[in-house]
Amino acid sequence: MTDILAESFRVYGRDGGGPFVLVSDHAGQAIPPSLGDLGLSDVERARHIGWDIGIDGVGRRLADALPAVLVEQVYSRLVIDCNRAPGHPTSVVVQSDGTLVPRNQNLDAADVAWREQTILHPYHNRIAQELDARLAHGRSVVVVALHSFTPVMHNVARPWHVGLLHNHDPRLAHIMIELLRAEGLVVGDNEPYALTDTSDYTVPLHGEQRALPHIEIEIRQDLITHPAGQAEWAARLARLLPEAWQIFCTRYEQQP
Ligand SMILES: [Zn+2]
Repeated sequence: MTDILAESFRVYGRDGGGPFVLVSDHAGQAIPPSLGDLGLSDVERARHIGWDIGIDGVGRRLADALPAVLVEQVYSRLVIDCNRAPGHPTSVVVQSDGTLVPRNQNLDAADVAWREQTILHPYHNRIAQELDARLAHGRSVVVVALHSFTPVMHNVARPWHVGLLHNHDPRLAHIMIELLRAEGLVVGDNEPYALTDTSDYTVPLHGEQRALPHIEIEIRQDLITHPAGQAEWAARLARLLPEAWQIFCTRYEQQP
């Protein structure tokens, strides 16, 4: 592997002094040139298996509205999943939702290590840098992980408009669930996925291990495929995240 990659992350937005740091593990669709098209058609790579459809538009609008810094992964999750720990069975998928990924079959350790070193680690190091800079100044930091989920999985329609995932520290997620339900939305509580020690990487690494307040949000993709839906959800989150944080600070006597 001799690809000289551009940075694997994109930093968007600006630090408006608030507590939120936005991260988007699955915002990108790029493939390193040495991996070609991974052996997949354009249509397959554009499916939900390749990236979190719509979350780039939500994340950037949300970053603009708060304002806040957003760290986005540039590369497709089919290259390496930045929300999986290195070595996780689905870190580099051999198949996803019925689609075999030809270029990921029978990978040798060097190929996997290259993906970790050039894509996974620089992205997470950049997030850590963003968090450390705030903590060094004694600021409160809230990690906000943004995702989207496919509306139909294994022929089953998913009813939730949005889901909040949580595990060891559900406090902020529970507040956000209350606020979103008060908007009349169908809100998944650890749906469509539950956050566990091994299912995810970003929140366990940056939120739980550092004991930072955090939230993991999953928005249903059909609601944010188009710019109007992205704007609607960004505006909603820009309104509710600060409200949830205020409730959190009051309830748990946290410095705002
Ligand atoms: Zn995702």
